[in-house]
Amino acid sequence: MRWKLINADPPVTYAVALETGDEAVKCLSDFVREQEVEAASITAIGAFRRAMLGYFEWQSKQYQKIPVEEQVEVLSLIGDVAVAEGQPTLHIHAVLGKSDGSVAGGHLLSAEVRPTLEVIITQSPSYLRKAKDPETGLALLAIDPVTQS
Ligand code: ZN
Repeated sequence: MRWKLINADPPVTYAVALETGDEAVKCLSDFVREQEVEAASITAIGAFRRAMLGYFEWQSKQYQKIPVEEQVEVLSLIGDVAVAEGQPTLHIHAVLGKSDGSVAGGHLLSAEVRPTLEVIITQSPSYLRKAKDPETGLALLAIDPVTQS
């Protein structure tokens, strides 16, 4: 993994390049914790050797796993960083393109990069906090109501 601070002024922005063999979710989680990025948006393109997507099954409140066991293009990866249970936590969704042009998409649980994943992480100006939602058990953005003047 290589990275560069491309904008030191708000919004603070990082470019991160993952390489063949990097586990994308782990590398990016480690990065935001090391850099103490508490609130940010993430976008990326690149390719994976394989990936594990998830579909949140409403009845069981669990992620149903969707294995993608082939080389795919990361057509669109979008996510955010927020503090959940005291530490920066990622939430990433991805649309993956297969060789026949069909796509698989979902919540990104894990992915092995090949050959690269080019990631832009843009810090959010306001603090985003996540709280455990009692209905789903998921950590969801807890947006405090703003008083309009
Ligand atoms: Zn999700």
